[in-house]
Amino acid sequence: MGIDLSGKVVIVTGGAKGIGEGCVQKFLDSNAIVISFDLDDSSLAIQESKHANLESSFSSHVVDVSNEAQVEDAVTKVLAAHGRIDGLINCAGIQTYGSVTDTTEEIWDRTFNVNVKSMFLTAKYVAPAMIAQKAGSIVNISSVQSLMSQKTVVAYAASKGAINALTRASAIDLAISGVRVNAILPGSVDTPMLRTSADMHRGEKSIEEVLADWGAGHPLGRIAKSSEIGDLAVFLISDESAFITGQSIVIDGGLSIQVPVILPGK
Ligand code: NAD
Repeated sequence: MGIDLSGKVVIVTGGAKGIGEGCVQKFLDSNAIVISFDLDDSSLAIQESKHANLESSFSSHVVDVSNEAQVEDAVTKVLAAHGRIDGLINCAGIQTYGSVTDTTEEIWDRTFNVNVKSMFLTAKYVAPAMIAQKAGSIVNISSVQSLMSQKTVVAYAASKGAINALTRASAIDLAISGVRVNAILPGSVDTPMLRTSADMHRGEKSIEEVLADWGAGHPLGRIAKSSEIGDLAVFLISDESAFITGQSIVIDGGLSIQVPVILPGK
């Protein structure tokens, strides 16, 4: 028996693809009422038709979560339809590349608007309902790149570090009201974003070969499935995690525990 979230209303941003889509499926599997927010209207339409048989437990809104008016409007519609919000999973995000010397101001601002400001905005409009209920749980998808880094990811890595700080600060603000806030820090996850990145960096290799190489860098020997991030998100929304708040929880197949210096002959 998995976790049962019957009667719980959960918003997933970036819900149409990748980790968000994996979360939507896992919350539906847990019997939650799920609302998918995404910018990508054609992917949302595909998701709507996939879940057409779940009319009362799945719906979606086309929304740019970096836009305050759109976030307020979409959250208002969710409250009008369902009367409560128990969970918010902030998955919407973009991967950008650039070093400290060649990242443009436009890329920096766009990265922070989509990756960080969106999480502040959704919490700003969802938390009042949770405070009134004296219960709720928010999960922000960060990255191991908030803890460790690589070349040419200055804006992305900084935005992920900011998510961890936003998570801690909002967890402290909301704790007294019974609302929890945690961050999930994945390693590499098989999503359209990761495949685009693999395509950009593949050289003569196929995308599958690049993903296998990246998987080999994780001690468990593979990259994650989006459903595995969804399982952790379901746990963090459920009462099974009732005493966990403000945490940055790594789910990376051991990627961040390994010293990348290989001993001779090993
Ligand atoms: P993805 O690109 O595959 O999916 C992201 C979804 O977010 C898309 O459906 C996209 O349309 C939506 N989105 C983007 N900007 C939006 C906006 N302004 N408003 C509404 N929706 C928007 O990406 P993913 O790999 O699933 O990544 C999801 C989150 O997980 C991101 O925050 C990413 O940084 C993080 N993450 C991903 C990986 C990975 O390896 N894939 C690893 C660590 C962290």
